[in-house]
Amino acid sequence: MESKFVQQRLVAKNTIAVSFTKPENFTYQAGQFVELTLPHKQTDSRGEKRWFTLSSSPDEEILTITTKRAPSSSSFKEAVFNSRPGAPLRVSDPMGDFVLPRNESKQLLFVAGGIGVTPFRSMCATLSPQSNRPITMLYAAKSQEEFAYLETLKNHATVHEIIGTLTSDLLLDTAKELSEPMIYISGPEPMVASLYEALKHTYSQSQLLCDYFPNYTRKE
Ligand SMILES: Cc1cc2nc3c(=O)[nH]c(=O)nc-3n(C[C@H](O)[C@H](O)[C@H](O)COP(=O)(O)OP(=O)(O)OC[C@H]3O[C@@H](n4cnc5c(N)ncnc54)[C@H](O)[C@@H]3O)c2cc1C
Repeated sequence: MESKFVQQRLVAKNTIAVSFTKPENFTYQAGQFVELTLPHKQTDSRGEKRWFTLSSSPDEEILTITTKRAPSSSSFKEAVFNSRPGAPLRVSDPMGDFVLPRNESKQLLFVAGGIGVTPFRSMCATLSPQSNRPITMLYAAKSQEEFAYLETLKNHATVHEIIGTLTSDLLLDTAKELSEPMIYISGPEPMVASLYEALKHTYSQSQLLCDYFPNYTRKE
């Protein structure tokens, strides 16, 4: 589907929210992702397509993704950051089952590493002010300046900010306090994989949802 860039804004250190128009009849659930296609000159080996979770909420009029600017970005990211309002891009249909459960009384534990905050921003932004879903969040970032969207998150979740590494011990201790929680883990692939390993013997498959972001390393 055709779309056009609308605006960009810095939402945390090296973290940029990029908005583009919502194609007609495009609907999605908070937490889902899309594939963006952006043909550009001097495309590097990583190509002209990327997956991104929509950090916007489905009720917002424009679509937004949020991403990091690496010290040496791919040609795709450079093309995104250099795009002017009105420039075209293509958006796929939304995909993924990293979405809120129907049962509103379920205890939820959101676990975000760095840019992995994106689906949780979408979920918290879509909840009505009256919503009282029980949500606990562990959110790890490299430094205080790298936390994004704290205000929106804190409207609905009890957020524990962690500077540095989020350990599996902390995650297990936090989960133990909750009754049959659904645990959502989102972030760089190595982080998500190691936390999943630590939890998989204690929690069932249906309680554990993971969103892996490839091409991010712990160094970033
Ligand atoms: C379901 C899903 C959802 C996702 N959601 C998000 C999201 O919400 N936000 C988000 O930011 N990402 C998300 N991602 C990851 C995203 O698709 C990209 O893989 C990620 O942003 C890295 O982008 P990039 O490859 O353009 O590299 P960059 O971010 O530009 O760089 C990442 C690292 O790779 C190095 N690098 C850059 N170019 C090259 C190259 N050509 N060859 C070798 N190394 C290079 C950089 O120096 C840096 O160390 C998601 C992925 C999936 C599968």
